[in-house]
Amino acid sequence: MQPLQDQVALVTGGSSGIGAGVAKCLAQAGAKVVVNYSSSAEGAQQVVREIESEGGTAISVQADVSQADRVQHLFQQLFDVFGTIDILVNNAGLQKDAAFVDMTLDDWNKVISVNLTGQFLCSQQAVKEFLRRGIVPERSCAAGKIICMSSVHEVIPWAGRCNYAASKGGVMLLMQSMAQELAPQKIRINSIGPGAIQTPINRSAWETPYAKAKLLNLIPYNRIGVVEDIGKAAVWLASDESDYVTGTTLYVDGGMTLYPGFATGG
Ligand code: NAD
Repeated sequence: MQPLQDQVALVTGGSSGIGAGVAKCLAQAGAKVVVNYSSSAEGAQQVVREIESEGGTAISVQADVSQADRVQHLFQQLFDVFGTIDILVNNAGLQKDAAFVDMTLDDWNKVISVNLTGQFLCSQQAVKEFLRRGIVPERSCAAGKIICMSSVHEVIPWAGRCNYAASKGGVMLLMQSMAQELAPQKIRINSIGPGAIQTPINRSAWETPYAKAKLLNLIPYNRIGVVEDIGKAAVWLASDESDYVTGTTLYVDGGMTLYPGFATGG
């Protein structure tokens, strides 16, 4: 029996990067996966094809997670096909970087609405279904599991990206508050805090040898992460193997949150 056998998982922003990697790992663990995308239908279809080629089950569904009506529609489509949801991975996110004094209100609002409000909207829909359905012991001892894709920047300030850092700091307390409120209903909610994972969102940080060397200075484990590092953590957090874990951020960061500047005495 696979750890996520017959469970239904939704991965938002699943057409690229970490979301695509997580979707594939969840499918390999036995979950039926809904790959949400905002604009890249082809990217999402490619993920679906890869899952199906390995014998898994997946569909792709378009929705902008920052829009309440689109999120409702996304969940309705998921229910129409799979009937219910067991695992939500709030992964969709973006950056709109600018120096603080130059940051426009649009840049601020866009990042907060996708990275933070999007997680609120999707979590609310998932929790409603977890509460309606309750525990199905053959699938999991929890009534539902949510994994919030946060970042090391929920605790590390980030100059030039105050909208992004504020959104991830918000995700941390959103996750902890939901976890506290919903633990009695046997709903587990945790975050993954990735460090530097090689994906399109941070291409400028690894695509030249100079940028890569600079980035490695921040990573004690001395390698840039790959999406499978996050996928494996997501499978564990979604499975009953982590049944006593809720309200926690699991940093998957090669030690980036260990203040590497102090490694030689500061
Ligand atoms: P990515 O750009 O490949 O993935 C982000 C995904 O979110 C894309 O598929 C994008 O289309 C989707 N998206 C954007 N706006 C959306 C919307 N309104 N509705 C639905 N989907 C939307 O980058 P990634 O690195 O894979 O990022 C995934 C998550 O991981 C993000 O939340 C990001 O903040 C987080 N993260 C990434 C890193 C890293 O090093 N790559 C580090 C820390 C945290």
